[in-house]
Amino acid sequence: MRYSILFGKAKKTAPHDAESINAKLLSQGGFIHQMMAGVYSYLPLGLRVLNKIKDVVREEMDVIGGQELLMPALQPKELWDETGRWEKLSDIMYQFESRGKQLGLGTTHEEPVVEIARHYISSYKDLPLALYQIQDKFRNEPRAKSGLLRGREFSMKDLYTFHESEDDLKDYYDKAVEAYKKIFERCGLDAIVTEASGGEFTKEFSHEFQVVTANGEDTIYFCPACSWCQNKEIAKVMKGDKCPECGKKIEEHRSIEVGNIFKLGTRYSKDMKLQYADVDGKKKDVVMGCYGIGPSRVMGAVVEVHNDKDGIIWPKEIAPYYVQIVTLGAKDESINSEIMSAGSNLYDQLDNTGIEVLWDDRDDASAGEKLKDADLLGMPLRILISEKTLKDNSVEWKFRSEKKPAIVNVRDVFEKIEAWVKE
Ligand code: ATP
Ligand code: MG
Repeated sequence: MRYSILFGKAKKTAPHDAESINAKLLSQGGFIHQMMAGVYSYLPLGLRVLNKIKDVVREEMDVIGGQELLMPALQPKELWDETGRWEKLSDIMYQFESRGKQLGLGTTHEEPVVEIARHYISSYKDLPLALYQIQDKFRNEPRAKSGLLRGREFSMKDLYTFHESEDDLKDYYDKAVEAYKKIFERCGLDAIVTEASGGEFTKEFSHEFQVVTANGEDTIYFCPACSWCQNKEIAKVMKGDKCPECGKKIEEHRSIEVGNIFKLGTRYSKDMKLQYADVDGKKKDVVMGCYGIGPSRVMGAVVEVHNDKDGIIWPKEIAPYYVQIVTLGAKDESINSEIMSAGSNLYDQLDNTGIEVLWDDRDDASAGEKLKDADLLGMPLRILISEKTLKDNSVEWKFRSEKKPAIVNVRDVFEKIEAWVKE
């Protein structure tokens, strides 16, 4: 993509009402645009990141046998009355009447997925089953001031699994933990598996995936020696206490919950009559699990963790583009066109090979502006071509995560980039 034609260019300053780091950097960089508190549009650059995160999630869901479907956001009250949650969730759920019918926008999808499943599951032969979707959820969050971290409309991957027994659920749950670890690692996040309240219906823990960062809304107690971790909301320990697992001192950290998985047991299948016939033909309640990740919150969390005073530092796998070429203009017309054609050659070579590249080819931006914007946008690798580098038949090679650039011969740069992309 040529930056001169890209829609959503970087701005000189962040919007004054952007309070969090992710909202500031993503808005200023032209990744997202706020419509109202907690509701954002994704501009072309931002959508590329969101889609890459969703792709990572999809790949890892497919590894653990997830089948993707898509359920509606618009739902009838009667469905939620079956579990008593129309009333229970009335604070957070957008509920309204239209043409005499009570409707709600999905905050989560246990009720809709069980409604579908009860039309398809009848025998033990139909189990186990893992269904997931990636869909926008709506929640009337009281505080929506953290950019993508807490949206009123936000992206969620929600997986629901159906099993014959608690044992089978447990086996799957353990696999889901591993899949989640893989997802966050690929997105460049170090997520800590954290014990948290399992909700109102169970004494068992649920598990959250928490990313440590100063601006997180959650507080966790973490043992650096054995990785034991609990959310403060449930925890019986305090900062400086001994770890209940290994006896070492525990630490307190602020963090962001990027994922949460629960064993639901038969809570929903009982209320909604989701049953299967076992080998002997005996009817039993289906045992369920549910597993959420917020791709949009992940995007916000990545920015909160990977930034410096100049802007974003995207992890390679979810960066909008791997490479940003920056060509700096020269006063001399012929040198200028040499620089542009060197830029254009490398751009075409990369683009034709399928290596995602952004080229800042603007002729109405100064060198200072281009370098500042490249740092703000945060592509992992910046290739700079200027009068100075061309004189030595070279380009300047700089990783966004490193301070010092390297000098690479023009002849070698394409192959070097290709090798780095494959790493
Ligand atoms: P929180 O406690 O932060 O409000 P939650 O526990 O209610 O979140 P879940 O229902 O477990 O959230 O949702 C699953 C995942 O969806 C969360 O782990 C998070 O990644 C994401 N998520 C939840 N609420 C929001 C939101 N308002 N904005 C963005 N992502 C969200
Ligand atoms: Mg949660």
